[in-house]
Amino acid sequence: MKSLRMLGNSRVEIIDVDVPRPEPGQVLIKVRASALCGSEMGGFRAPDAQPANGGHEVVGEVADACGHPCLREGDRVAIHAPVSCGHCYWCTRGYELFCEHMSGGTPGHAEYVAHPAHHCLVVPEDLTWDQAIMVGGDTVGVAYHSSTKAGVRAGDVAAVLGVGPVGLGCALLLSFWGLRVAAVDMSQYRLDLARSLGAERTINPSSEDALAALRSLNDGHGPDYIFDCAGSPATLDMALQSARKGGTVMVIGERGESPVYPSRDIIHSELRILGSWYFLRSDFPHMVDQTRRGLGPERLVTHHYPLERAQEAFDLMAAGECGKIVFTES
Ligand SMILES: [Zn+2]
Repeated sequence: MKSLRMLGNSRVEIIDVDVPRPEPGQVLIKVRASALCGSEMGGFRAPDAQPANGGHEVVGEVADACGHPCLREGDRVAIHAPVSCGHCYWCTRGYELFCEHMSGGTPGHAEYVAHPAHHCLVVPEDLTWDQAIMVGGDTVGVAYHSSTKAGVRAGDVAAVLGVGPVGLGCALLLSFWGLRVAAVDMSQYRLDLARSLGAERTINPSSEDALAALRSLNDGHGPDYIFDCAGSPATLDMALQSARKGGTVMVIGERGESPVYPSRDIIHSELRILGSWYFLRSDFPHMVDQTRRGLGPERLVTHHYPLERAQEAFDLMAAGECGKIVFTES
């Protein structure tokens, strides 16, 4: 079967490998679509070849259920990438993302993947593959998990710092839920995309004072919620300095260290500074429901490529002139 390999120095190739043999507890999935995630770009740019491709947003059909009682051949599924053990302290308390024996790493940019059955999310027939991969992967998944954790409310003001794919997912979901969303990014392409997905204000730090613009929101009190999807020291500092007093800063992006000043950021402004990572399997039915009610997650997908043109896709992702890129069959 075809599978993508990262050669190092921003080069990829398609190689022929054996179809994976499912291990006990796994099923074999015929991949219908896999999406490119920003988290793969580190491996793409690294000087050395990577041991496996980093594709982890995958939807497809069960090709061999391997006798699993809850899945059948032909079932449509999305793989939930961080595989939990189901038995540790955290798993038994319902918080699988803290699993003490986390595994995963299914190389999803391929024709087939083998994945543990208990981390396959069954996709209903009325969702398209594009919808399924957006709500079954990071893009809407991270937005949903972080937004519900933040406790967002319709009518409140939210700012999204960095509108790469996850930030675009936040802009889409928060707008759909009735928040007034401002998007901040250096890329005008992505700001225009955020506006088309519902953001009512866009701020480009290369052409205006972003800190002043954020502080002016919400009648000059600053946003009720700030989602830092960039995670750079500059954006986290901007978030802490512009959120309204008593507001919420949700930290999602991971790009380095940033100082926090307790007097300014925590004590006198009483900010809630929260973190959020990935999403729970139990979030998935709610995202399916929101899709049926008109969320339109497929609008996050701006490009489709066959796997054979993966180099073009990665180059486009590196250039940033895209929303979500999805590999589909040629
Ligand atoms: Zn566990």
